[in-house]
Amino acid sequence: MTTTAVTTTAVTTEPVHAEAAAATDPATAGATGPGSTADLERRIAEDPAAFRVLTGDRPTGPLHLGHYFGSLLNRVRLQDLGVDVIVLIPDYQVITDRDTADRLGEYTDGLLLDYLALGLDPARSTVFCHSAVPALNQLMLPFLSLVSVAELNRNPTVKDEIAHSRQSTVSGLMLTYPVHQAADILACKGNVVPVGRDQAPHLEVTRTIARRFNERYGRVFPEPDIMLSAAPLLLGTDGTKMSKSRANSIPLSATADETARLVKGATTDADRHITYDPDARPNVSSLVLLASLCLDRDPYEVAAEIGGGGAAALKRTVTDAVNGHLAPFRARRAEYAKDLAYVRSVLRAGNERANALAEATLDEVREAMGAFR
Ligand code: ATP
Ligand code: MG
Repeated sequence: MTTTAVTTTAVTTEPVHAEAAAATDPATAGATGPGSTADLERRIAEDPAAFRVLTGDRPTGPLHLGHYFGSLLNRVRLQDLGVDVIVLIPDYQVITDRDTADRLGEYTDGLLLDYLALGLDPARSTVFCHSAVPALNQLMLPFLSLVSVAELNRNPTVKDEIAHSRQSTVSGLMLTYPVHQAADILACKGNVVPVGRDQAPHLEVTRTIARRFNERYGRVFPEPDIMLSAAPLLLGTDGTKMSKSRANSIPLSATADETARLVKGATTDADRHITYDPDARPNVSSLVLLASLCLDRDPYEVAAEIGGGGAAALKRTVTDAVNGHLAPFRARRAEYAKDLAYVRSVLRAGNERANALAEATLDEVREAMGAFR
């Protein structure tokens, strides 16, 4: 089966709707100096072969529009620029915030279908799952020694995930989640990480661990750069971060009818006149933003056009925009779904490559730390 390149307009890291508080990261918007998003883009354009992406999605449910605009489009865009893109399906990490990993196989198949239908090309990019690469775990010991308990306790994303966790107590796995993530990224020597804004604190931990390891044992690891899209924190139908686990998402693979139903159930507010004002009206603005991203239009214009049409007109616009935008993707996905044997073979090949990469990194770590070889 061949892959089809994504036909949609990729969300670039440029602040296309710079005013959209919910959509553009203030830390990077507009900046052009060393270390800025613009600088990273320039370096990638100059020498894409010097970069390797490592990012991924937990198999906890179907991928949604937050993933799409937050990270997935950037992955395909970077692949097409010539960057080595590696996508991890962190299956063991599912038990970070729940007791068991329900429907793991089904969700993993779903992620693979989404990646392929989006245009991730197995000839150029790699998909692997955590449980198939034991070497990742070997990095945990040295890495855990490089962070303090106080640093782990301070992590705002971990605190948020604890608040939404399905478990009554905080497990060691939950607290050390950012360290696992550092092991995943650094075992593969990923140096650019396209993620949503919730991942920014985690990436700081990765950078800290890489820096401290290099200082202590000699340079082995890159300090990876985060890449945020113009929509790094898309809200769900309940007004909080759209998340697989929060029953507030619009899955990419939903049918047109399901999409209409989910959008219809989205929270709005009492003001009938539709405006785009992310600070004062986050729920309405999030819907406007979604339509504008799918239509590749300015959110203020989209809101002004709907104006007095109210929430019903807004939801109709969003539904049509999402369904129109995703129709080609959904058709490709249905094609891939007819050949699950092929789809799973992509993961098997990816696991092999990831094992080789991680083993090579472990050799360097052993050497750097003076371990017996
Ligand atoms: P879960 O509820 O199981 O944690 P999730 O929806 O948060 O699922 P993850 O697998 O944790 O998804 O995240 C995968 C990637 O997608 C990460 O890079 C994350 O930052 C990004 N992402 C997730 N949700 C959003 C969102 N609402 N907006 C932008 N990016 C997002
Ligand atoms: Mg998450």
